[in-house]
Amino acid sequence: MLGVQSKNSAIQKWRAFYRDNATPELAETSITASKVIDDCGTKKFLLKLHDGLETESVILPIKGFKKTRHTLCVSSQVGCAMGCDFCQTAQMGLLRNLTTAEIVAQWHTAHHALGTKIDNIVFMGMGEPLENLDAVIPAIEILADNNGPAIASSKICVSTVGRIEGIKLLGAMARTDGFKRLSLAFSVNAPNDEVRKQIMPLARAVSMEQLRDAILTYPRHDCGGVLAEYVLIPGINDSDAHALEVCEYLKPIGCGLNVIPYNPRDNSPWPAPTEKSVDRFVATAKSTGQFVRRRITLGRDTMAACGQLGNKELHKVQ
Ligand code: SF4
Repeated sequence: MLGVQSKNSAIQKWRAFYRDNATPELAETSITASKVIDDCGTKKFLLKLHDGLETESVILPIKGFKKTRHTLCVSSQVGCAMGCDFCQTAQMGLLRNLTTAEIVAQWHTAHHALGTKIDNIVFMGMGEPLENLDAVIPAIEILADNNGPAIASSKICVSTVGRIEGIKLLGAMARTDGFKRLSLAFSVNAPNDEVRKQIMPLARAVSMEQLRDAILTYPRHDCGGVLAEYVLIPGINDSDAHALEVCEYLKPIGCGLNVIPYNPRDNSPWPAPTEKSVDRFVATAKSTGQFVRRRITLGRDTMAACGQLGNKELHKVQ
């Protein structure tokens, strides 16, 4: 057991590392931002990892009434095994899970090396975070630590394509003190199983009903806790009938719907949706009484937008 003095000294070093960027005596990894691309304030940065792989993160400025807040979109894996058809990262396959240190390093780089105070963290970068919970859960604990980054758990959101076991495990974390406002976003992306199977291989194993049952077990709090995401793809899931059907599906959950206009990946079979079709889909969904938000498109020109992360030169060797 640590004596009081050693414990205090460990806390001081921990605080110094996270708060003041003091380099620890034993650095587990040497990670530095190898490339930063700035697109009107949206910054995509790459971290070179010890084995030569890279991970990508994005800082998104969100303008409010009084000030601009910054959301950091972090990656949890290099590549991804989920294979969603509309996603750039899926083109890489899964190269490996990130460690807890590599996940937290993304915040450290944004805060200290790039000098941006991060207000919110979303696990919506490369990878399916619920496939790597052994690293993601300790990373959330560190990010929320009052002696460390001190990002309140209400400002942290984990996004999933619908890994049922992972939703339950994250739900257990969201029942513990200090994490009761941890949010979960789930990518519904379709009005029914038939459409979902066309764009998300996971939908062949997990039905939308099973997904909804799992989501209903996630603990809720007064201002939310759960959010549905819908990547709007022209000709696939963007009709009025689709809007009405997905709102009907969401009714028992009673959560917000975040509509994300599709950001074309490389060699995309679909274009981005027109403003008119996005507006129409949002208006139709709202007409049912559903709370709907349209995600503002940031960073599309520099492949930093939602669904566009991934180094096309790195692919899983089949
Ligand atoms: S959308 Fe998310 S889960 Fe699907 S392939 Fe891309 S990174 Fe993976």
